[in-house]
Amino acid sequence: MLRPRTETRRITLGGVPIGGGAPVSVQTMTKAQPHDAEALLRQIAEAAELGCDIVRLTVPDAQAAEVFKQVRARSPVPLVADIHFDYRLALAALEAGADGLRINPGNIGGSERVRAVVAAARGRNVPIRIGVNGGSLEKDILAKHGAATAEALVESALRHVALLEAEDYHEIKISVKASDVPRTLAAYRLLSEMTAYPLHLGVTEAGTFIPGTVRSCVALGALLLDGIGDTVRVSLTDTPAKEVRVGVELLRAVGLRAPGAAVTSCPTCGRTRVDVAGLAARVEERLERYYREHPGAARPHVAVMGCVVNGPGEAKGADIAVAGGCGAFALYVRGVQVKVIPEADALEAIVALVAQWPAAGR
Ligand code: SF4
Repeated sequence: MLRPRTETRRITLGGVPIGGGAPVSVQTMTKAQPHDAEALLRQIAEAAELGCDIVRLTVPDAQAAEVFKQVRARSPVPLVADIHFDYRLALAALEAGADGLRINPGNIGGSERVRAVVAAARGRNVPIRIGVNGGSLEKDILAKHGAATAEALVESALRHVALLEAEDYHEIKISVKASDVPRTLAAYRLLSEMTAYPLHLGVTEAGTFIPGTVRSCVALGALLLDGIGDTVRVSLTDTPAKEVRVGVELLRAVGLRAPGAAVTSCPTCGRTRVDVAGLAARVEERLERYYREHPGAARPHVAVMGCVVNGPGEAKGADIAVAGGCGAFALYVRGVQVKVIPEADALEAIVALVAQWPAAGR
């Protein structure tokens, strides 16, 4: 059961509203080298195509800030510059057109530098994310709490927030990422009680595709169902595209993003003589693209089944179904077999039927 969303302050990042009841946005981070504009743009374009709202790029040196400028000029989505320690890089990234900054003001060497970054961000209406990770807490906070506990993460985040508030800057979002589910939950729940700034959810160092997806979805899903969280990133030791796919599906699963293609498929078994997994994945990909281009189109339920023995029965609830034979599929529309098609033609046949499917009420 989805609880009402926690009231947070609204900020805007490159035209994308965050917090204050805005739709929860999906973020990812590029993994290409920060000096390779073309590779960065390819990853950004793919992420955007899959439903990503905001992309973050690391800016580790002056050359990367130059590249950031070129990439920003051609990016289809707003870009956040991820800066560590060097306030001059933050200024360079803002100059290069960054829509958001991720920087922890307590780590950049004093109030003069914080003031300079805030002045540049304020002038451009750029929000700043304070991103605290369990692995990089201040020594005194670690000593006080004995470990990177939820309380320690929150104390560190609020200390950074205070530095921006001292400059009367409030265009802030916050993350407190731990690498395990219980601490992530505890930290965000505590933070949500203590601040009204929008929260960026994530599990840090979540891991490779399967464990990372599970950890992220358990932690972020629980928080989102509690009404906590304004933007999410699923961190995976994998491509930005995979991070976005999981992030979008996570929001759909908790009812915070419109449903996508309604494709079900059988788990396959010893009877299967066709490539069910390949066809189901291709159908899903094509229909996702079709619905992005035609958001108002009807979304009939499509079932991809492995065999004609159990397939038709199992696909009864579907509007369009295919059931595999030997190198061919029987095609069903509303439960009635209409023809048998070669395996190679199944994708186009399904997509064509979906494109002609009448909208509800017609
Ligand atoms: S539909 Fe056929 S191939 Fe698929 S799991 Fe059921 S029995 Fe096996």
